[in-house]
Parts: sequence; structure tokens; C-alpha cells
Amino acid sequence: MTDVPKFNKSPWVVHFNCNSCNGCDIEFLACLTPLYDLERFGILHVGNPKHADVLVVTGSVNHRNSRVLKNVYDQMPEPKVVVAMGVCASTGGIFADGYNVLGGVDKVIPVDVFVPGCPARPEAMIDGVLKGAQILEAKHSGKTPLAEKNVITRTPTPVAAPAAQEKGASHA
Ligand code: SF4
Repeated sequence: MTDVPKFNKSPWVVHFNCNSCNGCDIEFLACLTPLYDLERFGILHVGNPKHADVLVVTGSVNHRNSRVLKNVYDQMPEPKVVVAMGVCASTGGIFADGYNVLGGVDKVIPVDVFVPGCPARPEAMIDGVLKGAQILEAKHSGKTPLAEKNVITRTPTPVAAPAAQEKGASHA
């Protein structure tokens, strides 16, 4: 996993479903549960782009949603970071050849981190958000991060599942 940096402020994340099948969205919601616990890094999930530093996008861009995506992005204050979550958001994925599909998120707005996978695993998503938060810190300090370092290319080892409930345990 990406080394956990010390943030000068808690990065606030807003999530936008561009045209996803909901697979990546379910995995991202899992990141917010106690099992993966994205908040342990000081990262907060918010619903208003005007409050957010990091925009997480799932799904591919098409002619109908491109204006909405740009509108969400434009409402975020500078500096800001965009994380394309999953192969659809990164390239258009399996929908890339659709008659109405423009491609990945970077066809409309600048993307700082690409997280591959269909769906992306929660561990890779957390890596991507942490990388985005690092880039945000660099932007705050006026440094420009190197683009080639911003692709999460590995699938980290899954987090161990919670212990199964004992057979015959009472639910009373
Ligand atoms: S990358 Fe896969 S799981 Fe994610 S939105 Fe696209 S098709 Fe669905």
C-alpha cells in the first residue's frame, strides 16, 4: 500500500457515478465500511463538491453525462485532485466502443490518478485515494507530481475477511 503521508488537512472526497454499472461504486462504498475504514487515514466522504478536495469518478463518460461531470469538477475549489476509479473511468472500459461513449474521464477533465480493475478492488481504491491525497499535498505546496507515478498498477493483497460466525451461535 502507498506510504501513508502526513496530511496538513483531512482530504475530503466526493464520489460521482458517471455511467458505472455500479460494480465500482459498491466496492468504493465498501471502502467506507468498518472493514476497510478509509476514514482511518483522516479522509472524509462528503456529498457536496464545493466542500471536496478529491473527486472520485466511476464509469465511462458519454455525451449526456460529460456536462454534469464538468459541472461537478468546476464546483470544487482549487487545488483539487481527480481519481478515475476502475477501467471504465480510466479508458471507457467495456463500454469504450459504445456509440454514445466518449471514453475515460480524462476526455473531459484532468485526471491525477488512474486505478485499474473491473471492478477495482477496495485495497487498490484506497491506494488510489491516498495517492490522490499525496498529490493534493504537492499541489498545495506548489510542486507538480510526476504523471508516471500516479497509476496504481498492482492489486494489493486482500484484507482478511471477518471471522465467520460460529455454527449454531444464538441470534437471540
Ligand atoms: S470497471 Fe467494471 S465494475 Fe467498474 S463500472 Fe466499469 S464495468 Fe462496472
